[in-house]
Amino acid sequence: MEKIRPATDTVRHRLTELLRGNALTAKEISKALGIMERDVLDHLPHVARSAGKGELFFMEPSGCLKCGFVFKKRGRFKTPGKCPICSSEEITETRYGIRQSA
Ligand SMILES: [Zn+2]
Repeated sequence: MEKIRPATDTVRHRLTELLRGNALTAKEISKALGIMERDVLDHLPHVARSAGKGELFFMEPSGCLKCGFVFKKRGRFKTPGKCPICSSEEITETRYGIRQSA
């Protein structure tokens, strides 16, 4: 059985609260919660799985600023580093949020 430290619990709770009604980048979340960006990315999948009833975790996908490619089918949480079409590294940051589901 996985033992969850209270600190982890608290961070995930605060992260969930923060994402409700918002769409934030990992950078913005890391600033708001005072944790490392890579820790944000660690917590996000758990937060996504445990979104409450009537709530939906969503991602606004990254896009390439150069050719307009959108990373729609990406299963990973981290903002991609490079466009597969034109190899540009000017990629908009992925945003994460929780909204009410219909
Ligand atoms: Zn591109």
